[in-house]
Amino acid sequence: MKKNPIKIIPLGGLGEIGKNLLVIEYKNEILIIDAGIEFPSNDLFGVDLIIPDIHYLIENKFKVKGILITHGHEDHIGALPYIIPQLNVPIYSSRFSNALISAKLHEHNLLKNTKLNTIKPGKTFQIGSFEIEFFNVSHSIPESMGISINTPIGQIIHTGDFKFDHTPEYGPKSDFKELSKISNKNTLLLMSDSTYAEVEGYNTSEKDLSISLNRYINEAKGRIIIATFASLIPRIQTVINIAKEYNKKVTIIGRSMNNNIKMSIKMGYIDAPNNMIISWKQANKTNPNELIILATGAQGEPSSALSRISQGKHQDIKIIPGDTVIISSSPIPGNEVLVSETINNLSRLEANVLHSKIANVHVHGHASKEELKTMLNIIQPKFFIPVHGEYKHLLSHSKIAESMGVDKSNIFVIEDGDILELNNKSGKVIKSLQLGRVFVNSYKTWTEDSSISKDRKKLANNGVIALSINIDNMNKHLIDNPQIASIGFKQDEISKEVIKNINKKVKLTLENLSGNKLKLNEIKENLENEIKATIKNELSLNPNIIILLNQISSK
Ligand SMILES: [Zn+2]
Ligand SMILES: [Zn+2]
Repeated sequence: MKKNPIKIIPLGGLGEIGKNLLVIEYKNEILIIDAGIEFPSNDLFGVDLIIPDIHYLIENKFKVKGILITHGHEDHIGALPYIIPQLNVPIYSSRFSNALISAKLHEHNLLKNTKLNTIKPGKTFQIGSFEIEFFNVSHSIPESMGISINTPIGQIIHTGDFKFDHTPEYGPKSDFKELSKISNKNTLLLMSDSTYAEVEGYNTSEKDLSISLNRYINEAKGRIIIATFASLIPRIQTVINIAKEYNKKVTIIGRSMNNNIKMSIKMGYIDAPNNMIISWKQANKTNPNELIILATGAQGEPSSALSRISQGKHQDIKIIPGDTVIISSSPIPGNEVLVSETINNLSRLEANVLHSKIANVHVHGHASKEELKTMLNIIQPKFFIPVHGEYKHLLSHSKIAESMGVDKSNIFVIEDGDILELNNKSGKVIKSLQLGRVFVNSYKTWTEDSSISKDRKKLANNGVIALSINIDNMNKHLIDNPQIASIGFKQDEISKEVIKNINKKVKLTLENLSGNKLKLNEIKENLENEIKATIKNELSLNPNIIILLNQISSK
């Protein structure tokens, strides 16, 4: 008997970096892996976050059985508060991810009604026809996991975000024996992280990094400010270990980092000696040579602590010439300009800035080429799908798989929306879903192609001119000169001359229309077109026109 196929449907994260969400479908059952967000580019006005378009899941709501979470980064869990109200299915994650997810759901008032399950690696559990096992991987946040899913047609392995580290400073080392045991050379499909598939060689170990960080901290004269990701708990632990060695105090600047460190200490993910972490008030009284300041803003985010320090705008911390600033991260694509600006500003204040381009201050969390080969060599899958990355990363990873002996016809470079149907012999894309981007701003969501987006873009590009026009309710003639207000123009751009011409046009238009017995909105539309034409003529601009048309009784 022919077995039913499996469908693999990425709804985010394939063909782009961020908002990871992958659907695995078998008959009437759907599993979701991750539900992340993406941060908007600078030209998206009034957008805080972008989340995946899940209309396919809403249409197939009755099939959805659960959401499996690989790890707690925003591009893997950030969309949960927006997806859970629409699907309300159980979430399965590690203890650490669970704590981050809980905080998020709590903030959105969703915690009480969501079923959260904490999963330990190495324990199998069943969801419908799927037998699931999480396994440890090395990454840049505690308790990152890959997932093995035994389906009726064979085993699927999803690596999550991963790298290999044999000497991590934090958490378990990469375990090849365990990994090969899980796959048992019988894996039907491997889906593996492609973020750094273009980078040659191996990633440096956190151990090597800790040695160079130790040296920089030891050699620094004056205060040390270290900026890194708020969720990079292993790095924060490394800094704490070094602080301990040199008998330094640590103070934390930035809300997200403060929250994460507090939570991690409470749950046992960070080990810090008593009294080492001090408040800013205490830090102020501490000898500068004995102080390390941990701060957010390693990506140059404008509202972050480091960015404000670099501009001299931070309420507590002013750079003292000779301070050492270590930016322990590398800029995520798109943030290069912000990071560079921060470095320039800090240097102007005579800080000694160490960053990833000139010093050994960061190792990234994703596997480079040789590590990706190692993963393929251990798992030796029949089918391969590169996941997590822009198209070029996916393509590069597909070439790596080919070089490792995976049959070319068994490698599928698919992107968001593609529905790949897979049986145990072959696979093909049977359809592509039309996906939009869903924008979020202060808890409100809308899709990219909606009028809100178009309006905002137009507002940003063209400005607004608003007119309040009073007309006689009987003959529809202009009663007095319109009131005009504008946003987005140079001070003298809407000159007296321009206003005079607009007034003239309004008056004329109304007189011409008065015999036609038009409805109010039709009059408005006519006015709008005429005013638009006038402004285009006068100023060569195409602003948004808002007309408030008031009918006034002349008696
Ligand atoms: Zn990650
Ligand atoms: Zn990721």
